[in-house]
Amino acid sequence: MRNEKKPSLAKELMNKYDFKMAKSLGQNFLVNEMILKEIVESADLDENDFVLEIGPGIGTMTQALGKQVKKVVAVEIDKRLIPILNVALFGYDNISVVNEDILKVDLPKLLLDNFGDQKAKVVANLPYYITTPIIMMLLEDKLNLKSITIMIQKEVAERITASPGGKVYGALSVAVQYYAKTHLMMIVPPDAFVPQPGVDSAVIRIDILDKPSVEVKNEKLFFDVVKAGFSQRRKMLLNTLTSSNLNFTKEQIREILAECGIDEKRRAETLSLQEFGKIADKIYDIKIK
Ligand code: SAM
Repeated sequence: MRNEKKPSLAKELMNKYDFKMAKSLGQNFLVNEMILKEIVESADLDENDFVLEIGPGIGTMTQALGKQVKKVVAVEIDKRLIPILNVALFGYDNISVVNEDILKVDLPKLLLDNFGDQKAKVVANLPYYITTPIIMMLLEDKLNLKSITIMIQKEVAERITASPGGKVYGALSVAVQYYAKTHLMMIVPPDAFVPQPGVDSAVIRIDILDKPSVEVKNEKLFFDVVKAGFSQRRKMLLNTLTSSNLNFTKEQIREILAECGIDEKRRAETLSLQEFGKIADKIYDIKIK
């Protein structure tokens, strides 16, 4: 018999095991069943899917995932949660729990060992203290992943999904949108968690593209230009790119921007990924001459 646990029973389980939540590990457990259902729905799962969950906590979402998909691997750093997870996930033969740090575990091997060459979907209520490193690792390490559906801080969700021209569009928006198409799925209030976080949360889905959204001659240079552009976001491009370590004079930057058809007075926050790509490629051509 499988264990069936309602999120509202989270407190009961923690009392039973005398479990004290560690703030340092971002332990805010989801206790709103409707929101839990909506997250799982946002991930667009079916019975053939393979899922990597990061930070299963006491296993509430893990159970819901286990019921919907072929296989779940859940990576949890806190060894105190392992006995609780063993009880919560008893009878779920398609779920494995791995007691590791998601930022340190050999993820390509973990995915290969558990899912073979099938692409996996990541679903998680992320620990907020390492949201960005986790997302960037999942994208930059070119893992065998199809999508990433995650609960994160609302403010970070808005930055990731922002379009050019908006106040919160920045280097993080460009970095994620280079690899993926992003969707803001829903906003979640603090009272959906125990203990309540000090900020609103949001669920986003990141659909990973087969190839980057903009083709560039040199990826590192592209990201150097993005970083330089946003280093002083209130200043115009001519100045931010000149004072960066791209090592060009003001006159050279003026020429590069003119050749790209980009007004030197514009600010980085108005540039599309394609425009950043154009500048990076022009710089690349000059550097290899
Ligand atoms: N999934 C549960 C839920 O929705 O109620 C718990 C989510 S809680 C926000 C984040 C979880 O990530 C905690 O269980 C925490 O112990 C775990 N965690 C924190 N840092 C981690 C890391 N580096 N690697 C793996 N898990 C981590």
